Amino acid sequence: MSGANLLVRGIGRLLTMAGEPVPDAAVLVRDGRVAWTGSAADLPDLPDLPDLPELDAGGACVVPGFVDPHTHLVFAGSRREEFVARLAGLPYDGGGIRTTVGATTAASDDELVALARARLAVALAHGTTSMEVKSGYGLTPDAELRLLRLVHRLAAEQPVRLESTYLGAHVVPAGRNRAEYLDEVVATVPLAAAAGARWVDVFCDRGVFTVDEARRVLQAGAANGLGLRLHAEEIAWTGAAGLAAETGCASADHLEHVSADDARAMAAAGVVGVLLPTVTLSLRSGAWGHAAVLREAGVELALATDCNPGTSWCESMPYVIQLACLQMGLSVAEAFRAATLGAAHALRHADRGHLGVGACGDLVVLDAEHEADLVAHLGGRPVRRTVVGGVPT
Ligand SMILES: [Zn+2]
Repeated sequence: MSGANLLVRGIGRLLTMAGEPVPDAAVLVRDGRVAWTGSAADLPDLPDLPDLPELDAGGACVVPGFVDPHTHLVFAGSRREEFVARLAGLPYDGGGIRTTVGATTAASDDELVALARARLAVALAHGTTSMEVKSGYGLTPDAELRLLRLVHRLAAEQPVRLESTYLGAHVVPAGRNRAEYLDEVVATVPLAAAAGARWVDVFCDRGVFTVDEARRVLQAGAANGLGLRLHAEEIAWTGAAGLAAETGCASADHLEHVSADDARAMAAAGVVGVLLPTVTLSLRSGAWGHAAVLREAGVELALATDCNPGTSWCESMPYVIQLACLQMGLSVAEAFRAATLGAAHALRHADRGHLGVGACGDLVVLDAEHEADLVAHLGGRPVRRTVVGGVPT
C-alpha cells in the first residue's frame, strides 16, 4: 500500500485543504504520497513514470480522504431494545454500554474481526481512509487488551489506516467496586501501551467517571507515552472539557454541554473539539448548539461518526457532514475541513486530511461535481471511489 504511484485526472474541482479549490485539476501520487497537485493543464511531463496507473475522476469533485477520529468499531450484538425504548421517550444514561460488553465478550476473535471488517468496508466506501478505534467493550484487562490486538489485526489486513485507543474507563462494570476498578484501569495503561495503543480515553461524565478519576487515568496514559483524548460533557456539564485543556488532550469529544469558559480554555490549549452529530440525532437530545459555542471560542473543530451500536450506529462521514451542516450550523467549508484537516489534527497527523505535497495519497472521488452537492443530496451514494496511499479501492 505504501509505495504506490497514481495519476488522478479528470478532476472537475479539487479541494486540497492546503490552498484554494482548483478547477480542472490533477493529482500525482508517488510512492504513496502526494507529489504534485494543480491545474491539469500544468501537469509536468513524467518520463520517469512510464507505466503510471491513472484514475479518471470523470469531472467529479475530489477531496482528501476522510479521517474518522472517534469510533468504537469492534463490537458484537445489538442495542435494538434500547433504541426502540428511546423512540418511546426513554432518556440515555450510558448504561447500555454493559449490554455491548456482554455480547462482545461472548463473541470469538474471528467473529469480532468479521463484524468490524464489514463495517470498515462500509466506511471505506464512504470515503474514510483513517480511523481511530477504541477498546472499552471488554472492561477486564485481558478483554480490553484483546480488543486492542483485534484492531491491530484489522489494521494489517485492509486499507483503512487504523490506530487504537485504550478506553478501559468506559463505564464501571456491573458488580465491580468503583475504586478497585479504577485502580485496575490505571494498572492496565502500561499493558495497553505495550500492546500498541496510541491513545488513552475516559468517558468523563455525570454517572460515569468524575473529573478527578479521569485525571488519574490520563496522567497514567501520559506517563506511559500515550496521547490523551476525552469523552467530555455529553450527558451533562462536569468540567471534563476543562480537564482536557489542563492535561493537554489532543481532543475533547461530544461537548454537547460545554461552557464558553471551558471552550476558551480548550482553544488556548490547542484541544480539538470533536463533534458527533449522529449521536445527537440518535439520542434525540436536540443538542445542536455547542458547535457555535466552540466556534465562537476559536476551538478547532473535527467531525467523527462515534460508530457504536447504542448511540450512533453509523460508519458514514458524509452523513456526519450532512448533519453538521443541516443541524449544527457548520458551513460546507467548515464541515469538510472538520472531516479532513480538523480530524487529522485531532489525531495529531500532520500528513493527513489534506493533499499538500508530501501528504498521504489518500483521497475521495465524490459522486458530485461540488462538495456542496454532497451535503444537499440526501440518501444518495455520496462517494464514487476512495484512494488510500495511491491505491484505488
Ligand atoms: Zn465514544
